[in-house]
Amino acid sequence: MSNATFEEIGKVLRDHQRFAILSHVRPDGDALGSQLALALSLQQLGKDVRVWNENGMLEKYSFLPRAELLTKPPSAAEDVDIAIALDTAIQSRLGTAFAAIRSAKIWINIDHHRSNPGYGDMVIVDPSAPATGEIIFRLIKSQDLPFNHDIAENLYAAISTDTGSFQYPKTSARTFEIAAELVRAGGLDVGKVSQQLYENYPRRRLELLRELLRTMRFSECGRVASFSMTLKTAADLAVLPEDNEGLIDHLRAIRGVIVAVFFEELADGKVRVSMRSKDEAVDVCAICQKFGGGGHTLAAGARVRGSLAEVEEKVLEEIREALKRRS
Ligand code: 5GP
Ligand code: MN
Repeated sequence: MSNATFEEIGKVLRDHQRFAILSHVRPDGDALGSQLALALSLQQLGKDVRVWNENGMLEKYSFLPRAELLTKPPSAAEDVDIAIALDTAIQSRLGTAFAAIRSAKIWINIDHHRSNPGYGDMVIVDPSAPATGEIIFRLIKSQDLPFNHDIAENLYAAISTDTGSFQYPKTSARTFEIAAELVRAGGLDVGKVSQQLYENYPRRRLELLRELLRTMRFSECGRVASFSMTLKTAADLAVLPEDNEGLIDHLRAIRGVIVAVFFEELADGKVRVSMRSKDEAVDVCAICQKFGGGGHTLAAGARVRGSLAEVEEKVLEEIREALKRRS
């Protein structure tokens, strides 16, 4: 797979009129912030832009500038010139947003997941980027596309969330340089954005954490930590899917833990598995790929058919094997 250049993508963006910008189901800050940033830039160019996600805009990210542009896809499919998938490792993770595109002359795939197979007609997959937002920033700047405060704030939110507030290993000097430029050129109030991102959780998120911690268990001499959420807990606390984003970090933060796992019972007979590693030698993307999922070396996920207990056992066994190979 060879990547398209920013110049090639830039030319396609300028030469067409009707765009759809999509991202993965159960979006995170990187997906939503990247979508809005690129959409706003294209709108400023006078383009006609749809911004769709299967789940629509999440309550927790509804403070993002021009959040109202991002909607659920329509039930009747539409024709566009250019469809752009952002932050989406595999095309099927576009969900109903994919089905809403009846035809597109060109599919563009911009992402930073190493497991991305490079679907689409024009591809930029850069696994060295800690966030898709970083790639969007470089595209906008290199092609001299419109840029303003709202675009900057969306990109800052994208990069801040996907780097764990500039902590994760792929956070580089370039990431800080981009963040500095976003703050400077976009006139951002970092404290205000961070407060909206990290100090504005609904109380039920912490109530959920309390329940998850009750299920916390350790294996492999403390190198693996996991917790689980049943459908009942989710219903009792009336949690939204987005409420658990980031809770796995409490497990990863424990001394001695190499792999953290979160198991979430889903209504469709599957279990969503979310995995984090603190050691490049333990590739959780490879582990999740065995279960049909994917992601990054240090952060990955999968949806696995079976009961909570069955999936926990199978997945923990694969992790045990991966740890054995490492030591
Ligand atoms: P999270 O654990 O935050 O849901 O996801 C961690 C990373 O793994 C994200 O980059 C996400 O895109 C990827 N990921 C999570 N679940 C799946 C999945 O079911 N399939 C694939 N291919 N990737 C996933
Ligand atoms: Mn991302």
